[in-house]
Amino acid sequence: MPLALEDFRRDMEGCSRCSSCKWIPLSQIRSKRFSQVCPSISKFKFHAYSGSGKLNTGLSIIDGRSEFDEAAADIFYKCTMCGGCDVGCKVYRNDIDLTDTFAEARARAVELGHAPIELLMLVENMNAENNVFGEPKDARADWEAETGVELLDANAEQVDILLHVGCRLAYDTALRPEIAAAARILQKTGLKVGTSKTAESCCGFRAYESGFKSELAKFSDDMVNRVKSCGAKMVAVACSDCFGAFNYVYPKNGRALPVPVRHIAEIADEMAGGAGRETAKTAAAVSIRPADAGRGGETRTRKVTYHDPCNLGRKGQDFTGQYEGNKLDRPDEMRRAGQGGRYDEPRRLIESIPGVELVEMERIREYSWCCGAGGGCYESQEEFSLETAKERIEEAIATGADTLVTSCPWCVNNFNLAIEAMETGAIEVVGISQFIEEAFS
Ligand code: SF4
Ligand code: SF4
Repeated sequence: MPLALEDFRRDMEGCSRCSSCKWIPLSQIRSKRFSQVCPSISKFKFHAYSGSGKLNTGLSIIDGRSEFDEAAADIFYKCTMCGGCDVGCKVYRNDIDLTDTFAEARARAVELGHAPIELLMLVENMNAENNVFGEPKDARADWEAETGVELLDANAEQVDILLHVGCRLAYDTALRPEIAAAARILQKTGLKVGTSKTAESCCGFRAYESGFKSELAKFSDDMVNRVKSCGAKMVAVACSDCFGAFNYVYPKNGRALPVPVRHIAEIADEMAGGAGRETAKTAAAVSIRPADAGRGGETRTRKVTYHDPCNLGRKGQDFTGQYEGNKLDRPDEMRRAGQGGRYDEPRRLIESIPGVELVEMERIREYSWCCGAGGGCYESQEEFSLETAKERIEEAIATGADTLVTSCPWCVNNFNLAIEAMETGAIEVVGISQFIEEAFS
């Protein structure tokens, strides 16, 4: 059933203004410098921009004490929808669904015509060319020819695994090594791996998170139909936003894909003998263990730190259904408190590579600092988005690592923009597929 902002009254009224949503939990804090969790309050330094402040604003609106004007909408759009506040509140205070409330507030902003112009353009691009950038839809599969990777055409034949490439990996030429590596790793399963080529469309995630809820139907219907017609037993993704769309947003809106969805980090982890999830085991027909391949016998030491993308980490929980009763009584599997994130799979892969030492940042797993690209901020809040990424780069550099690995192309791109702006050569950003591929013999 479609929800409205009013359906989150209990969440908004439940806020005690304790401010636990602004910081990582006390037990996790290792320094004042890296103790905040909310990019929005950190940047705009006014309570309204915190998770709590957004709830208070929403309550004031539904109670008729405030108008939902452009200024109010701006409060909800100056937010990466990272979910840091959501976890903090659920872990230490109330069982409030903060980001779900914000999504409804954004949907109301769209209805009232208060969405940022950049996000209107994003949706226009999606409707015209099936991608968020407005690039020609016919160029969506160019990466295959440019990288020499040949996957099966899932429009013409039955496949075992359908690789959903996603907009950024399909069009960002700087990320060619990452998508090519992901495809080659999947091919090592020995299964039939295909893509929808130029018939693939955006997953719809960015439009949905930006408040354009009605766009989801078109893109999810298209995806479901393509999965069904190619006979795939699994959908593979190498983007955490696509993962969030298929694993949580689609089923939550009654549009679940008919097969499991797995991120490349989960699949590769299982292929490498990790403690993979049961459903992933059906896909990995061969076991490939990381080896010292391609290194010419040279022993290298590399310090690596790992960034948890929000939609694979704390928001990466499987959708397990709507709870109709008092949310305070929800069973644990329905509390989206970050417990279902894919945290161990990428770390196991990184640590299994010879010569690599994994050094952790201060804010990790469900308490990670966001890359800044989410929630439509990359498109509509450029400075905020970049500053959020710079903060994470500073945290990564503080570990002494020379490489920052992550599992989302949006994070990779935003971190590279931050590194460029900071004019630092202290750290390099690498996607998880590219990083681990050299270890797969
Ligand atoms: S942690 Fe929860 S209860 Fe506390 S201020 Fe934030 S939203 Fe309100
Ligand atoms: S979703 Fe992230 S940026 Fe938005 S209020 Fe919560 S912690 Fe802050």
